[in-house]
Amino acid sequence: MKFFVENSRMARLINAYPWHNSSLGTIEVWPPELHNAVSTMLESRIPMYVAWGEEFIQFYNDAYVPILGAKGDDEIGKSTRETWPEIWPVIGPMFRKVLREGESFGFPGFNLFLERGSYTEETYFDFSYSPIRKIDRTIGGVFLSCLETTDRVLHERRMEMLANTLPVAFDSTAAGDFLKESHLQLSHNPKDLPYSLFIEYNIEKEAFSCLSKFGLSNSDPQIKGFLSAEGVHIIRNLSEEGVFESQKILKNGVQFDLKPWQEDPTFCYIIPYSYNHFKCRNYVLLGLSSRTSCNELYIQFFRLCGRYLQHQYEHWQMRKQEEKQLQAIQELSTKKDEFISVASHELKTPLTSAKAFLQIVARSTASMPQIEKFVSGALKQLDRLQKLTTDLLDISKINAGKLDYKITELNFADLLQEAVSNFQSTVTTHQIEVEQNQDAVIEGDSQRLEQVLNNLLSNAVKYSPQATKVVVSSSLIQNYLVVAVRDFGVGIPQDRIHLLFERFYRIEETAMHFQGMGLGLFIVSEILNRHKGRFWIESEQGKGSTFYFMLPVKGLQTVTQEVDAEDHYSNLHISISINKEKKFLYVNWLGFQNNESVRQGCLKMLDMLKKTGLTKVLNDNRSVLGTWSDAAEWVGKEWFPMMEAAGLKHFAWIYSNSTFSQLSAHKSVDILQGKVVTRLFNDGNEGEDWLLKV
Ligand code: ADP
Repeated sequence: MKFFVENSRMARLINAYPWHNSSLGTIEVWPPELHNAVSTMLESRIPMYVAWGEEFIQFYNDAYVPILGAKGDDEIGKSTRETWPEIWPVIGPMFRKVLREGESFGFPGFNLFLERGSYTEETYFDFSYSPIRKIDRTIGGVFLSCLETTDRVLHERRMEMLANTLPVAFDSTAAGDFLKESHLQLSHNPKDLPYSLFIEYNIEKEAFSCLSKFGLSNSDPQIKGFLSAEGVHIIRNLSEEGVFESQKILKNGVQFDLKPWQEDPTFCYIIPYSYNHFKCRNYVLLGLSSRTSCNELYIQFFRLCGRYLQHQYEHWQMRKQEEKQLQAIQELSTKKDEFISVASHELKTPLTSAKAFLQIVARSTASMPQIEKFVSGALKQLDRLQKLTTDLLDISKINAGKLDYKITELNFADLLQEAVSNFQSTVTTHQIEVEQNQDAVIEGDSQRLEQVLNNLLSNAVKYSPQATKVVVSSSLIQNYLVVAVRDFGVGIPQDRIHLLFERFYRIEETAMHFQGMGLGLFIVSEILNRHKGRFWIESEQGKGSTFYFMLPVKGLQTVTQEVDAEDHYSNLHISISINKEKKFLYVNWLGFQNNESVRQGCLKMLDMLKKTGLTKVLNDNRSVLGTWSDAAEWVGKEWFPMMEAAGLKHFAWIYSNSTFSQLSAHKSVDILQGKVVTRLFNDGNEGEDWLLKV
């Protein structure tokens, strides 16, 4: 006879159990309370258990079976003492108290390791023990129900650990250790986080590095000691966070240092973080406990850990930048102090000399020609003083945005001729040769433009004490008037050339040999900017320098000789062709570029890349002249991302000979955003070889 409704496995087992051989006897003779308790238990969906009599003969339902874990589900009819010997010392006294004194017990957060899946699982239960009373109020057995609280317990443990994660103070002397220390804060809960790796991927250098880690070790402490080739591949192509097998990601032989459980962790969770601002992508790799599955709550915990690390990383980067800025401010302030000392010295020298000459004259009984000599000496010094004070006044006007310009239409050839002869009349050491003087009408302030020429000429003379000539030329190139002032003097180191137009800047090595305040070129650059002009320098140390500037010529229209064919495009500034055989776009930039020509050429390139589906560009700047600095930022920040979206992957950039064009190329690459791989080459063939290989 089937006493219990057979709607569960345990009901069937209990019905079929040979009870006649047990101390309880057949089900028909069981007390009704036992019958009722077992029946209620079998119908319940939450884990329940009954232990009857002094022997604690046990019954349980299907929901309870996982709690038995490895013990299996064949424990019906046995004593609790027999099934649970390992915890009997704890629960035995409570069972007896329930049975003898009728006292109920709550038993929260009991830890059990269950074999529920393919692994041993860390679980937690709240147990309740209560008496099963008979009609005569005596107690027949213990009724046990329980509620699984694994999720809550584990979540609370993880959150507690995060709450105890102390913010690590940034110590600038050990900036690198800051990340390591921050990371170690997460190592206090190896049960939930047995190991972790914080990886930085430098997009430009295509290189992985390990920023910090815990719980893992290998003889090779570099990143290649931790990630397998497959791991590197997976991580490089990872766009979304997820669970991965540790075995695939980590290198063979990596040791797990923290051992919360006997077995090694088999999975990890990887979260990518993009941080274009620093040209890096980061990956936080977090080891998963071998004794739990990766559910939503666990993922939440990983995200918080990852966010914490990434936040510390960003904080670290910001602090590094702040330190750089602070250093720059300090340098500027030092420069200013130096300037004040140089300026007072510069002002004092001619003043003392002029005063000395005039004192001699005052006390003198000398003849007229001698007096004239002293007066002319004094006047010369006063001229110098006047030039210095004018420069200082101009600087303060520039700072206040109050430098006035009287713009008129003028012939630059006349202006140049006059400026040169005026200058020549003050100089005896050098011959100023005008090699070419192009007729060109421009719009500008004649006085200010003469000031530009004067500054460049006086520098050319000043910084070429061994030379005897300075060569000036002006010519028309691509509808611009290009003026060059060339000297044969000391030259300028390549790495300083871009700093020359800064306020107060003087090259240290030459500063002590030449008088000056470092203001002239700054004023020149301001005046040229206001004339929509541009300037650049070519120089070789020990051989001399050429200072160029370029002004727009009035009335000359740019003739656009445009060719727009299927596989070729060209205009005055650029020529783009499709190299079908080698599968790249060949782009040849021609002559002077300006903001407009760079943007137009770049957009045409974008257009052709989209049409052809090519992924590589050979960008040849060898024929570029002058500078295109005003477009450099747009190229790096806006155009490259557009090219990336159009499919660009590799970009070989062949340098121009022009130092200033090279500087612009560097600027674009430095601020470049995204994943495009860019390489700069001096040699065209090297650039092409690289493109063919990648
Ligand atoms: P100053 O000549 O008063 O120092 P400038 O602003 O005119 O200031 O020039 C800034 C710096 O640029 C100079 O101190 C010098 O180091 C460098 N410089 C300028 N012109 C030349 C030149 N023709 N040759 C070499 N160095 C030069």
